[in-house]
Amino acid sequence: MHRCWIEVSRGQIARNYQSVRQATGPDIEVMPVVKADAYRHGMREVAKVLAASGARWMGVSNVGEGISLRQGGIEARLLVMADFLPSERDYLFEFNLTPALHSLEDIASYHTLAKKRDIIAPYHLKIDTGMGRLGTRATAQEILLALSATPNAQLEGLMTHFASAGNYISTQTEEQVARFLEISTYLATSGVRPKYTHLSSTIGIAYNRRDAWGNLVRPGHAIYGYVSPARGEAPERILQVQPALCWKTRVLTVKDLPKGAQIGYGGMFRAPKPMKIAVLAAGYADGIPHGLGNKGKVMLHGQFCNILGAVSMDLTTIDVTHLENVEAGEVVTLIGRDGPVSIDAQQMARMAGEISYSLLCGISARVERIYVD
Ligand SMILES: *Cc1c(COP(=O)(O)O)cnc(C)c1O
Repeated sequence: MHRCWIEVSRGQIARNYQSVRQATGPDIEVMPVVKADAYRHGMREVAKVLAASGARWMGVSNVGEGISLRQGGIEARLLVMADFLPSERDYLFEFNLTPALHSLEDIASYHTLAKKRDIIAPYHLKIDTGMGRLGTRATAQEILLALSATPNAQLEGLMTHFASAGNYISTQTEEQVARFLEISTYLATSGVRPKYTHLSSTIGIAYNRRDAWGNLVRPGHAIYGYVSPARGEAPERILQVQPALCWKTRVLTVKDLPKGAQIGYGGMFRAPKPMKIAVLAAGYADGIPHGLGNKGKVMLHGQFCNILGAVSMDLTTIDVTHLENVEAGEVVTLIGRDGPVSIDAQQMARMAGEISYSLLCGISARVERIYVD
């Protein structure tokens, strides 16, 4: 009897991965992104499903995640995308992790480490085409010079990342693609043709930005069943995916409150009439956004129930005045479907003023994970 848990569908993860493959076609490598504990779906389990479905590459954020996957028996190529600390460099070699490098100095030191081991070590070079975060802003000529001085470091991939891929009002993505093409074309003219070029995550795939696929795509959100809505006039979506996770808790207790009673910290809610409330066995320590206080809804008996008052650390209070016979122990759905009603992570995030990414990543470690087919 768990107090709060998620159910992750292995089959849905696999189907979402296959949907991306179908949308992009046989010539494009698909590198599912399993960083951040697979957006809380459980990195090792998700990676196993993806490996069994044929994924040859997976994206992680950091060295620790890569090591965890290796220790979990994952043999796919792993791209470490969010940089690494100087003290972590040796692990890249020890665990066969492929780094994204973000500066010409990075390439030089990676070359030195590879040379010491007497190997030629592959890496992907990230170009900052306008995201203004990680990635080199060096010119193509400067990159070419750096490459010729670092023979033990092998440029296997050239990549970039978009800041506004879903925004069809802004031209930022077109500018980023143009900048990327300028560099990759210059390198190609000079005989440098990395095996992979990649630019797109979920949004660039879903809205069919083919000119921004290169020959590899990096879907994260889509693998878990989500595509963020686009802004402006987006092309038709070519990718259909379904959420792979539902999130549940239980009723701890039910009670009647008289008119005028206040509920929770700060007395944020005052009963306008006699009400029946249920106290749920989950709160913000489980990842229910504090911002859902007096705003959110959950599902019970196939109906929506409003959250009343503040969400507290371990408890959340809901209105069950309209329901008959609610009992302690009953299952309440936070994300998922209950008969005719449903709430997904995007809808819950919107109610809380968050994004679906942060909501999923916020499902906390104490929430049990159950895998279903
Ligand atoms: C997280 C990440 C992705 C995946 O993004 P989604 O929007 O979840 O598909 C792709 N590439 C990089 C570099 C990332 O950091």
